[in-house]
Amino acid sequence: MLDALIENNRRWSHRKTEIDPQFFRRLVAQQSPEYLWIGCSDSRVPATEIVDLDPGEMFVHRNIANLVPPQDSSCLSVLQFAVQVLKVKHILVVGHYGCGGVRASLESNGDSLIDHWLSPIREVAHAHQHELDALDDHDKFDRLCELNVKQQVRNLSVNPIVLRAWREGQPLALHGWVYALNNGYVTDLGVTVTSLEDRQRHFDV
Ligand code: ZN
Repeated sequence: MLDALIENNRRWSHRKTEIDPQFFRRLVAQQSPEYLWIGCSDSRVPATEIVDLDPGEMFVHRNIANLVPPQDSSCLSVLQFAVQVLKVKHILVVGHYGCGGVRASLESNGDSLIDHWLSPIREVAHAHQHELDALDDHDKFDRLCELNVKQQVRNLSVNPIVLRAWREGQPLALHGWVYALNNGYVTDLGVTVTSLEDRQRHFDV
């Protein structure tokens, strides 16, 4: 059933080595990505493809609605490895308009596992209720996708792993981006944090 995928894989591998015969041999030796991407699991938002990077150039963590929950051991493990071992220089939190996770957080009030996972987005919506209530449904949804990204950048900026890196003088920038499904463009949301001073400026913490 998956023969097509295996065939795709062989063709892809051959293309890579045709262009650069040493490509895979170099990757076996080490990975030294400069970027950690924290994005949504949505199949329409493929991390390395969007920014046209090769294998080995970006460390990636994806979950539903690109969350950075302070207690999530999977996300924290990725963060720790990326910052302390790989010493990435940039962490990109990348949300996207039309995010099903963000929409579900607005529409659902059940008690399933996914509702539990999405509860931080409901908190973001609650904290910005006044602003969101002034928008129509479409704009409200888009705005919440952006606010969710900013909240995750904020979460990163108070994370002990990030704080330790800054304290030790390790260059590390946090960025918030949002991706548009309809044209493939990413937009920088202007919440780049490279120090505690930046954090104070953007988030007042
Ligand atoms: Zn999504």
